[in-house]
Amino acid sequence: MSMKVGNQPFFEGVDEAIHNSFMVNAVSSAQDGLRDKKLRATVGDETLGDWENWRNAGEEIRSFTLNHLDYYLKQLSDNFSARGGHVYFAQTAEEARDYIKKVVRDKKAKNIVKAKSMVTEEISLNEALEEEGCNVLETDLAEFILQVDKDRPSHIVVPSVHKNRQQVRDSFKKLGYTGSDDPKELAGFARKTLRSQFLKADVGITGCNFAVADTGSICLVTNEGNANMVTTFPETQITVMGMERLVPSWKELDILVTLLCRSSVGQRLTTYVTDITPGGQLDTVDSPKDFHLVIVDAGRSNALGTEFQPALHCIRCAACLNVCPVYRHIGGHAYGSIYPGPIGAVLSPILGGYKEYGKLPYASSLCAACTEACPVKIPLHQLLIKHRRKYVEGGGNPPVGEKIAMKGFGIGASSPFMFKVGMKTAPILLKPLVDNGAIEKGPGPMRPWTHGRDLPAPSSENFRAWFKKHKEVESENKTKETSEWQ
Ligand code: SF4
Repeated sequence: MSMKVGNQPFFEGVDEAIHNSFMVNAVSSAQDGLRDKKLRATVGDETLGDWENWRNAGEEIRSFTLNHLDYYLKQLSDNFSARGGHVYFAQTAEEARDYIKKVVRDKKAKNIVKAKSMVTEEISLNEALEEEGCNVLETDLAEFILQVDKDRPSHIVVPSVHKNRQQVRDSFKKLGYTGSDDPKELAGFARKTLRSQFLKADVGITGCNFAVADTGSICLVTNEGNANMVTTFPETQITVMGMERLVPSWKELDILVTLLCRSSVGQRLTTYVTDITPGGQLDTVDSPKDFHLVIVDAGRSNALGTEFQPALHCIRCAACLNVCPVYRHIGGHAYGSIYPGPIGAVLSPILGGYKEYGKLPYASSLCAACTEACPVKIPLHQLLIKHRRKYVEGGGNPPVGEKIAMKGFGIGASSPFMFKVGMKTAPILLKPLVDNGAIEKGPGPMRPWTHGRDLPAPSSENFRAWFKKHKEVESENKTKETSEWQ
């Protein structure tokens, strides 16, 4: 059990994904929609002021909090406990699972309802609780669909982005659904199915978008309302959070919630922003009576104090996935990690090691669109390069094609003469491979690259020759103009 999705080696997964045209189309149209909404809600919203100022504030808050993580974790823990909650620090995924299993066992709980949570996916909590004999029900609509299908998320915010409504209808048939593929009807069926389960749940489990250190509160940012049901119906509540997901106070929470809602789904504010504080001592109506907060490390401290610490600034908005050209073509499952896309390629080797995830940082064109999109300014493309360096230094093998291409380019670019010769000879050498203006099947190390896309044929006229020609024409014209005026 781990954050791994499937057992396929990375490049095999990529190969399969790029030939799955249904998935590629579904992902690219979702990407376009989410990216456009985000742009309208950020740089396109005049009421917000300068989006760059918001990003700067986000970066500052995350960086400050991570630099004082020990202080704020203690403050969070003290305040949560002082209000009657129970805090458990889990160094590993196994420790987190064991603690939660114990709580469930002590309560003799059978029925568990869950709200969407990446960290519980990361620690494979559902499987662990099912082994204990519990019925675990995902109540977020997309997660519910995946659970019915025994599938895994392929996007951080929209986990079932790779499915269409016909597929959802077919999945629901397994539960006795006889209706159409109309989204409203499908959602109505899910709502009805889930509602009765909320009423008999013994324990509710959620993730945590942010924890507020100075009051010991948990903040959940959602759109469906299911998280509110999960946290109010059962008397026992377990919140699982990655240890970096906290803010010092409500002032910083305000800014990060704004950044998260606008960057993830392009909304000024999501339908629900729910804040829960343990209420065991207050006898309140809607606070959980028995509230457990499980704070998970599971590899995060590997990044603390290193060049990779900025990866922990992530607020899981998925804006980087929504602009990534690689994610667009391979979708989420090909990454083989519960965290896909640019942040997945950065985070997975930190949490799961280079042996398992060392190839993921190569799933990038290094175009830096992810860095530009990130609301808390994580330098994702630079972290990917740093990972590649560490991977190779540790004895890992980079993709052969890239290695040869970079070596060749290095030799060519180091001498003007070689560069000139290369530019002249490339179109001649590659000509036999060109068909309809592109190379569809490259030889040797070029083969994997051209397996999934076409390489445009090199132009017979290179840029230097073109520039020289135009410069000459331009200066001739200038001379002509001058002599006409004289
Ligand atoms: S790295 Fe940045 S853009 Fe990507 S999910 Fe995290 S916060 Fe969002």
